[in-house]
Amino acid sequence: MDTSPSQSDSITQFPTAFKRMNAELFAKQLGVECRLASTDELHVWRETAAFDAVDPDPEFPGLVGRHIARVRLDAIDQEIGRRSILSKSQNRDSELSAPAWSALARELRSRIDLPKFLVQEGLPLTATKKHSRRGSPEFFGSCPLCGGTDRFRVWGGEQGRAWCRQCGISWDLIAAARSIWNVGFRDAVRRLASQEGVAVPGDFVPKKWTVRVG
Ligand SMILES: [Zn+2]
Repeated sequence: MDTSPSQSDSITQFPTAFKRMNAELFAKQLGVECRLASTDELHVWRETAAFDAVDPDPEFPGLVGRHIARVRLDAIDQEIGRRSILSKSQNRDSELSAPAWSALARELRSRIDLPKFLVQEGLPLTATKKHSRRGSPEFFGSCPLCGGTDRFRVWGGEQGRAWCRQCGISWDLIAAARSIWNVGFRDAVRRLASQEGVAVPGDFVPKKWTVRVG
């Protein structure tokens, strides 16, 4: 599979609506979003953005989606870098468990089929009998956010994704679980892991909290 972005990925070819977007405002919003995210979330977002940035699928993410993914990736890397400097200067190591959570999220995404999960959570889906360029089966249904009948597309497989072509919501398994259950990142991962019978990494406990007996 060709994973390099298309040669024709030039901003001059973007739809007019996207060109009208205030790029500066968009970058600012992304910056705020990243500041508010937990470090676990940043690592998971980074994987998704890195994946979308080079995904050649013409429908999703498509030209605009690839560009947005690259801009997101920059913002995420900036925030991860900022926190790493901050944590070194404050000699904190409370973020140590982030990679473990990120690895668990990755494991769950590959084990749990997104279309199956959504149906199980009460979102009816119909198979389109089509497949994505990666060979994942495609489904459609009503968008949980903006309605309609067939605007919500869902792809199964190891990198299951859901995308509404009307309002643009884009979910992977973890994002779907968080939105549907209205919980934070770690709670979503914990619950998915327990449903799947996967062990959850112990939360990192700083050394100074070690309980001394006797
Ligand atoms: Zn929608």
